[in-house]
Amino acid sequence: MEKTTAEGLELYHFANLKKFGEINHFISSRAGGFSKGPFKSMNTGFHVGDNDWIVLQNRKKLAEVLRIDISQLTFAHQTHSSNIAIIDHVKKGSGSTNYESSIPNTDGLVTNIPGICLCVQMADCVPLLLYDPVNKVIGAVHAGWRGTLRKVAESAVKTMAYTYGCSPSDIIAGIGPSNGPCCYEVGEDVNTEALRSLGDLKGIIKEHPQPGKYIFDQWHANFLQLTDCGIPEKNIEISDLCSHCHSDTFFSSRKDSGITGRTTAGIMLKESACRG
Ligand SMILES: [Zn+2]
Repeated sequence: MEKTTAEGLELYHFANLKKFGEINHFISSRAGGFSKGPFKSMNTGFHVGDNDWIVLQNRKKLAEVLRIDISQLTFAHQTHSSNIAIIDHVKKGSGSTNYESSIPNTDGLVTNIPGICLCVQMADCVPLLLYDPVNKVIGAVHAGWRGTLRKVAESAVKTMAYTYGCSPSDIIAGIGPSNGPCCYEVGEDVNTEALRSLGDLKGIIKEHPQPGKYIFDQWHANFLQLTDCGIPEKNIEISDLCSHCHSDTFFSSRKDSGITGRTTAGIMLKESACRG
């Protein structure tokens, strides 16, 4: 991934999405915000125990650096579901300035409307950003192990196909910083659920030296989910940045024992984007 810094705010970008001048996308990090303690410093999540006013200042600064209005940021109340929301002018800006107005019970957002910045939040879970440059459609997905096994990424791709006529073979995808296969220990419950949900684990669950423990490869699982949908391997970029190994850069719920902030992954069609 490439890193840009503006006013102390460090944002990460996928090389494969950055090639498209008609979109903006980013993944925020811990740097450049106002929060203190475990939320230091660019916590973009309300409801995690941080001061709401400070979170609002962090989001305002994020919007400022992105050169958009905070009311363009659009957030969901994420529940580890496979529910996808199609974002129209009415839903634009949901959850931008408070938690209560977030789109309920949703873990993926898609739109073809320029000027709407689709945002997902995470601290170890996988952010996926999707773009169909042919139909000019974008998607943002939050996939932890539950969402991954519920196939939230597949739901997003299918929604893009059904709603906007996207062909998966055109979609460009980024799998962002999250708890990687170096660190993501899970128990028997996840192994059982993965077997039930996926059948063939295809290297998604790996052996762990301790009995009853496994390594769940969230990156590979989501990569396979995207390729199974028909997205070409060459269109998918994996950040290879583990939030647990790099907890000084990204918020990691596991490293920080559950009390931590949230990074945001966002994608937006620029308002000047010409749609055919
Ligand atoms: Zn790691």
